[in-house]
Amino acid sequence: MKSSNIEDLKEMEETFKILGDRTRIEILFSLIQGEKCVHEVAEEIDQELSNVSHHLRRLRDKELVEYKKKGRHKYYEIKDNYVSKILHEGMDHARE
Ligand SMILES: [Zn+2]
Repeated sequence: MKSSNIEDLKEMEETFKILGDRTRIEILFSLIQGEKCVHEVAEEIDQELSNVSHHLRRLRDKELVEYKKKGRHKYYEIKDNYVSKILHEGMDHARE
């Protein structure tokens, strides 16, 4: 296999590893509805703030989400359509 393809496969592997966590999936589904601050996400999915922050950082490292600061709050949103597509396809598949 060509080395460029191997890089692509590695990248995909990393992305799916990040997506392979129920809490992170919940966080992403929560953000699909629109940008939210960490506090709002934590409340919505009923998880500890520190835990949600940690997961959001990992999602950000993989560039699946991005944030902007508004005052003391960080507002997160889904970075691109790709992520929401994967989630919707994944959910459709889970429901089949
Ligand atoms: Zn907040």
